Amino acid sequence: MGGALSLGLCFGLLQKIRSAPLIALISGLVGMLGDSLLGATCQAMYFCPTCQKETERHIHNCGTTTQLIRGIKWMNNDTVNFLATLLELESPCVFSSVWRRSGEHSVDTQRVPIQKQGQQKPPAC
Ligand SMILES: [Zn+2]
Repeated sequence: MGGALSLGLCFGLLQKIRSAPLIALISGLVGMLGDSLLGATCQAMYFCPTCQKETERHIHNCGTTTQLIRGIKWMNNDTVNFLATLLELESPCVFSSVWRRSGEHSVDTQRVPIQKQGQQKPPAC
């Protein structure tokens, strides 16, 4: 969970931008979404033939070597969490640069909805 760290970093980086809380919120959501997406699509899932169960472990609790049934072999839960945290930390930089370029940090336009920003970022795999 890099949420607290990310939130602190967001406020540190974006304290001059009036929309910082919104960007922090979005970054948190990006991290959460990234975690879910990576977990569902890329995380390695194994099957234990002895217990007839799916597991995240290459060696199951019963000692049996499991078989990879989906995902990427090196993409375990820790890797997914790490990548999601990176995504969460990097997104404020992306959002703030987009924000600055589009001039929406000015007083007149700060209420413009965020839906216009490119938030459909594909997962990193
Ligand atoms: Zn087993």
